[in-house]
Amino acid sequence: MPATLRAVQADLTTLQVDAIVNAANSSLLGGGGVDGAIHRAAGPALLEACRLLGGCPTGDAKLTQGYRLPARFVIHAVGPVWHGGERGEPEQLASCYRRAIKLAAQHGIRTLAFPAISTGAYGYPFEPAARIAIATVRAAIYVSPGIREVLFCCHSAEDLAVYERLLGQAAT
Ligand code: ADP
Repeated sequence: MPATLRAVQADLTTLQVDAIVNAANSSLLGGGGVDGAIHRAAGPALLEACRLLGGCPTGDAKLTQGYRLPARFVIHAVGPVWHGGERGEPEQLASCYRRAIKLAAQHGIRTLAFPAISTGAYGYPFEPAARIAIATVRAAIYVSPGIREVLFCCHSAEDLAVYERLLGQAAT
């Protein structure tokens, strides 16, 4: 059975999954948006762990423990800043989803939840980003049979409607 892909409207930091994915910046030293919320919920030990990682290039991901979060792990994925779409943004966005799934598989993670990476402060248009997220995750979990469920965690009802429409359109 392939993994289930599902969209939910929630605060990512509250989800009871094996890992949540952080929309991090390349310093990995915290920021606003979902990154700030994760650091606040996980506590200061998360920042200490991130310091030891020495940053992360755009399109890549790194893993830490989840500390005070319900999730056991945080996968810090660095999405691209949107510059109009001609500077490799789609490839970089796909790459960070792929890398996050690969890390999850390597750590025996069965359930994980993604925020809509790059669609906040980084300005990536929401629907194109969601299409990439879904297509990339679908392809990546095909070769990662240990992963059972992937949640796309949306902040607003409007964002949830986009994911639900896109997930409904494509074959599961
Ligand atoms: P980026 O810098 O990658 O754009 P942001 O954190 O600014 O990252 O935004 C990424 C997405 O996360 C946006 O769609 C935003 O609405 C959403 N978001 C912000 N806070 C939360 C949260 N607590 N839970 C889930 N999604 C969130």
